[in-house]
Amino acid sequence: MGVTVNLLDGNAIPAVGYGVYQVPDDAAEVALRHAIECGYRSVDTAAMYGNEAGVGRAVRASAVPRSELFVTTKLWNDDQGYDTTMRAFEKSLSTLGLGYVDMYLIHWPLAKEGKFVDTFRAFQKLKADGLVRSIGVSNFTRAHLEELIEATGEVPVVNQIELHPRLAQNELREFHASLGIVTEAWGPLGQGSTLSIPEIADIAAAQSKTAAQVVLRWHLQRGTVVIPKSAAPERIESNFAVFDFELTDEQMTLIDGLDTGDRIGADPDIMW
Ligand code: NAD
Repeated sequence: MGVTVNLLDGNAIPAVGYGVYQVPDDAAEVALRHAIECGYRSVDTAAMYGNEAGVGRAVRASAVPRSELFVTTKLWNDDQGYDTTMRAFEKSLSTLGLGYVDMYLIHWPLAKEGKFVDTFRAFQKLKADGLVRSIGVSNFTRAHLEELIEATGEVPVVNQIELHPRLAQNELREFHASLGIVTEAWGPLGQGSTLSIPEIADIAAAQSKTAAQVVLRWHLQRGTVVIPKSAAPERIESNFAVFDFELTDEQMTLIDGLDTGDRIGADPDIMW
């Protein structure tokens, strides 16, 4: 599986995966096939993305054995709750056309609806039944995590959150580390917005790398799992070519200093 990060449950997740948000179903199949050829062994989809079918086709068609690929999908907001989660998972699994998924995430906490504990109990059942290997969450704050762990007695292995040089999430990352939760960055490139930051461009020039490679390397050196998205074949390839160089301490510190706390996506505390 290449470079991986260990999860609390004994499984391991590839450090760099391919994200397919906003990639149409047919294009996702083609792009994921290419990503796997480039060395990716992990894909991040979601019921809400509408491309689980294309992702599943690429996984099934691949010459790489299923056991060497890591497939993540997510439960959408409308399906939170125990029974609804069980039904939504069955639908995702059949759309993917797979026998199991490696990781299932609660897409958003939706704390006001008060259903994420029941939802996670369904996740525990799916794991016990062998249909899901690892269970985690996405867009959870510290308070959401504390409530979930207190109620279920289980620590989600991953929290996938918006994280990039403008939103370094240092407090939440420290909290994750204290519990052994792996931090996974969505929007790791700030959806492209971090690539024109002059400090990053300067480091890229000094390292003879692209700005995207520098940002991804910053994440990896902080122990964060990344799932960059691109539809362009050459970018898919170069975004994975991040294991043959290292940022210096000074370069890391310079990028650490770019944190303004600015979000691109919704704030989980005020969303719905
Ligand atoms: P990203 O930070 O990965 O940026 C993607 C954009 O950056 C691309 O559309 C492209 O315009 C640009 N880009 C990518 N590689 C580049 C390169 N080498 N050079 C120049 N530009 C490049 O943003 P994202 O797609 O939002 O996030 C990645 C993945 O995270 C998604 O595909 C999805 O799987 C996941 N995600 C999860 C959530 C969630 O709520 N859990 C939300 C958003 C995204």
